[in-house]
Amino acid sequence: MNDDPVKLLAEYLRINTTNPPGNESRAVTFFQDIFAREGIETKTYESAPGRTSIRAILRGSGAQKPLILLNHMDVVPAEKQEWSADPFGGEIIDGFLYGRGALDMKSLGIMELLALLDIQKSGIKPCRDVIFLATADEEAGGKHGIQFLLENHPDDFSAEFVINEGGFGISGLFPDRPVFMISTAEKGLCWLKVTCTGQPGHGSVPHGQSALEKLNAAIYRLLAEKTPVTLTPIIKRYFHNLAAGWDFLEPFVNDQKAETLERILEQTGLIQMPQISAMLRNTISLTQIHSGNKANVIPASAEATFDIRLLPGQSLEEYLAIIKEKMGDDALRFEILAQSESSTSPPDTKYFHLIADVIRQDYPEALVTPSLLFATSDSRLFRKHGITTYGFCPAVIGLEDIPKIHGIDERISLENMINGTRLFTKIVKKLCLE
Ligand SMILES: [Zn+2]
Repeated sequence: MNDDPVKLLAEYLRINTTNPPGNESRAVTFFQDIFAREGIETKTYESAPGRTSIRAILRGSGAQKPLILLNHMDVVPAEKQEWSADPFGGEIIDGFLYGRGALDMKSLGIMELLALLDIQKSGIKPCRDVIFLATADEEAGGKHGIQFLLENHPDDFSAEFVINEGGFGISGLFPDRPVFMISTAEKGLCWLKVTCTGQPGHGSVPHGQSALEKLNAAIYRLLAEKTPVTLTPIIKRYFHNLAAGWDFLEPFVNDQKAETLERILEQTGLIQMPQISAMLRNTISLTQIHSGNKANVIPASAEATFDIRLLPGQSLEEYLAIIKEKMGDDALRFEILAQSESSTSPPDTKYFHLIADVIRQDYPEALVTPSLLFATSDSRLFRKHGITTYGFCPAVIGLEDIPKIHGIDERISLENMINGTRLFTKIVKKLCLE
C-alpha cells in the first residue's frame, strides 16, 4: 500500500468535497479502500444522500478508554481563477502541495490515517481502542456530520481523549524557535440577523424614515468602536508562556493585569494583528447586507447579518443586550440564525504534557502552549460530553500561510507533511502503546 503522506494527500485533495454540497461520500470511499486493503474494521454513517462519515477502529486491550483521531473531510469553496494552482488538482509547486484543505484539514486527516496504519503494522496491541473518525459537514456546523453521529450513535464515540484540528506550530513569531499551539478552548458563535422596516417611497423625495438608512446608522453605532479587551484564563496563560520569547511581556508576567497586557500589545502594535485582537475580545463581523432593488426606490426593509464570536465564559444573552443598546433603534428586529457555546478542555492534563514532550524531542527549542481557537470546530461537541479534546496539527507553518486557510492558495510544504506525519505517529503511539 502507498503510505507516502505527500502522495496520499495529493490524491485526497483531488476529491472535491466543497461544502455545500459536501459530497463527502467520495472521500469516504477513498478511506474505505485504504482501510479495506489493510484489513482494518470500518463503519460508515450516512446522514443524507452523499453526506457520509467514516469510523475506522483498531481494537486495543481495553486497559484504557478509547482515543479518537478526529478530522473533517469537507472543505470551504475555492475559486480556481484566483489561485496559482488548481485548488482540486493536488499540484506541487516549489516544495508546497497546493489545494483546498491542504491545511484545513485534509493534511491532518492523512497524518491520522498513517498513524493508525503504522500501529496496525507494528503488530502490537494498543492499550486502548484507536478510532479514526472522518466527518462530513464540519464547515457548515456539523448537522450532517458530528451532530448526527453523536445524537444517533453516541456509543460508537465514547472516548477519553480526542485529537482534532485547531492548533499548528508557527514559525516567525520568535527568531529560530517555533511556537506550537495546542488549542484547548474555542470561542462561541452567534449568527445574528437584524432587520429594519421603514417607509418606502420615491428616491427623489427623501423622508428620513428609510429602513436602509436607519439600519446603516445603527450598524455604524455598533461597529464604531472595538469591543473591550477581556483577559480570560486561557489567554492569560498564553501570553504568560509567550513571554519566554517576547521579553517585552515581562511587566505583564509580573503583575498579571489585563491593562498591562493591553498597554504592551498596543505599544508593540501586536494588538493590530487581527488574530491577536480576536483572542482578547468578543468580536463582531458584518458579513451580509440586503436591501433595495432599484436606484430610485427607497426600500421598505433592510437586513444585515453579523458573525459574533464570544470568548469562553461570556454570556450571549448579556452580549445581545449590549448589541441592542448600541444599535439603539426600536424599529430593529433581531433573529439568531445559528448559535454554539464556547468550549474548554483543561490544559493541564497528562495528554498535554505527553504531546509537548514528544514535540520537544523533534524541536528541542520549541515553545508549546495551550491556545484559544477563534473559530468553532467539531471539538466543541466532544467537550460538551466531558471528553478532553485538543486541537493540534504538527505542521510548522509561517505566518504568511495562516490567511491562506479559507483563503487563496492554501498549501502545505512537503517537508511539513513528512515531518508532521512522523511526529503525529510518535504522539499516537505514545498515547496507546504504553
Ligand atoms: Zn477545519
